[in-house]
Amino acid sequence: MLTEETAVDGREPRELAGRNVSMLTQKTAVVTGSTSGIGLAIARSLAASGANVVLNGFGEVAAAQAEVAGCATAGARVVYHPADMARADEIAALVEFAGAEFGGVDVLINNAGIQHVASIEGFPVERWDAILAVNLTSAFHTTRLVLPYMRGQNWGRIVNVASVHGLVASTHKAAYVAAKHGLVGLTKVTALETARTGVTCNAVCPGWVQTPLVERQVEARAEQDHSSAAAARAALLGEKQPSGSFVTTQQLAAMVGFLCSEAASEVRGVAWAMDGGWTAQ
Ligand code: NAD
Repeated sequence: MLTEETAVDGREPRELAGRNVSMLTQKTAVVTGSTSGIGLAIARSLAASGANVVLNGFGEVAAAQAEVAGCATAGARVVYHPADMARADEIAALVEFAGAEFGGVDVLINNAGIQHVASIEGFPVERWDAILAVNLTSAFHTTRLVLPYMRGQNWGRIVNVASVHGLVASTHKAAYVAAKHGLVGLTKVTALETARTGVTCNAVCPGWVQTPLVERQVEARAEQDHSSAAAARAALLGEKQPSGSFVTTQQLAAMVGFLCSEAASEVRGVAWAMDGGWTAQ
């Protein structure tokens, strides 16, 4: 039985625990879509764990970079690349940039995502294409481009930010649900193809998290119901999330941190829900 006093692989538990805390020092993490919401929180947490971080995404770039740099441990650097994750050539440029800056990508967080809410018959074709490109195909490109380096050093962590919609469906989200189910499938294939290596790939599946992506759905719901934003938030949570509370970006970042740790080296190909009970129903 493994107790606190038991040495693992000849090392003392305290040494292993210490390694978990500092294991991202001198490692490099790429977090796609990290100028906002969940990606920004994950970037902050990885920088605080000692990693160099490559930010990506649109919008308030300077503010995001300053925020993440403010969390970084001494010696870690935070840089930004503007790749549009809908474009294969720009994704390749992002991975090349990370390699040129830091030597390679040790931790890949596929987080960039967009949403559009409409019935299948009314779904704009260009929105379908964009959601599949950003939420699913981008992860295929980043993964295929970082794997040779990770395999070469026999260590790597890939975390795909999927969704409860990678596990179950809701109406009016055909493209998003299809893309997130696809991302969970890609996670499993990547995990199997790397199973005999020190590279792991897993997905996290959040329920409702209060970010700009969800606030746009709150506004649409408030307009539809002629209600306040607070009432719309309560209605959205009430329909799907038994806890009645939003998952926080910090809670998700902590789960991603665990998946990047040494303790998670045999967690492979899971789609880990953090959803206030949504998928337990
Ligand atoms: P958000 O809108 O706050 O952030 C999305 C990020 O992706 C931003 O940085 C944005 O600039 C970036 N982005 C969008 N299109 C891009 C593109 N073409 N190229 C590069 N970057 C792009 O959203 P969020 O809620 O933080 O979502 C992050 C991820 O979490 C998404 O994959 C989303 O599907 C997933 N998710 C969110 C929730 C939720 O309730 N908020 C729930 C489950 C899953």
